[in-house]
Amino acid sequence: MIAKDIPKNEAEFHNQLGTEEACREYLLALRWPNGFVCPRCNHDKGYPLKNREKWECASCKYHCSIRAGTVMQGSKKPLVMWFAAIYYMMESKQGFSALGLKRRLSLGSYQTAWTWFQKIRDYLKPDSEPIMGRVEFDEINLGGSAKNTGIAGRGSSKKLLVGCIVECRGRASGRVRMKLFKTGHGKNILSFVRDNVAKGSVIHCDGGRSFIQLSREGYFVDTFKADDKKALGRHLPRIYRIGGLIKRVINGTHMGAVAPWRLEKYFDEYVFRFERKSAASRFELFFDVLKRIIQHPCRTCRQIFADREEGAAGYVNVTGQAKGRKPSQKEPQWWKDLLPKNPWPSPRGVLG
Ligand SMILES: [Zn+2]
Repeated sequence: MIAKDIPKNEAEFHNQLGTEEACREYLLALRWPNGFVCPRCNHDKGYPLKNREKWECASCKYHCSIRAGTVMQGSKKPLVMWFAAIYYMMESKQGFSALGLKRRLSLGSYQTAWTWFQKIRDYLKPDSEPIMGRVEFDEINLGGSAKNTGIAGRGSSKKLLVGCIVECRGRASGRVRMKLFKTGHGKNILSFVRDNVAKGSVIHCDGGRSFIQLSREGYFVDTFKADDKKALGRHLPRIYRIGGLIKRVINGTHMGAVAPWRLEKYFDEYVFRFERKSAASRFELFFDVLKRIIQHPCRTCRQIFADREEGAAGYVNVTGQAKGRKPSQKEPQWWKDLLPKNPWPSPRGVLG
């Protein structure tokens, strides 16, 4: 059933993967498409133990769980709940909040739903291959509007700066890369562009000084100096569309309550979904995530957030209008000690 019979909607999804047995067989087929292989000695004969979730190697007698090394390892929750969580996360266009998942699956606590999503989100990193061709670049401001701060764009310390690169594919957008900048300094922009865009590409951007350097390095830079936002929006339409959408996701789905140091994980999720927007079925995204879960070992939340860039604390409220919910009471408390000692300049609209 893995290659054919792709579910087209939620009802079909539940029909095909609505039982523990179906999910187990599905995971088995993904993990060992050509039959059992012992992870310790590579022997190809094994016997299922209890419920076919555990297998014993015929040669070295090693006991192996089909959940081993995946995000589901050690979880007492049935596979069918995990599958549903991944499906809900991928199926919705705007993303799914942890609180929504808790309600939908009747999970015991918000912490469980939150931890599940953080772990699944860790698999959604975009590929690291640089984009070649024509791209748009600009910075998106999160947290507060220019009207509130009085200082526009890069000069404002009340905003979070997010670097954004969008690939131009005809009139449409292709791949997207986003990064939270600690400061709007030219060197941050330069290294972000160098990491994500191949030399020889055309970069459409506003007239920042840092781009003179890029034109010396083999990039073709098309700058546009505009005083009003509308004109810039016409020059960089893809960036402005992405900027509006990401604000809607953070403010709508997550109620504007996302700690800045976690923002990049949300960007990854958004980009993953955006780049697959033309998929015939949302199930393709689910399948893609499940494949990644099987292929790459799962990291703990502590590991996931240990590699964050130091600096950001507080909560971002994207529009600076509606007050965001402060989620710290409900989220696991252990990450408090992960919070940095020297917080970034707090964005406008920060709570508590
Ligand atoms: Zn073995």
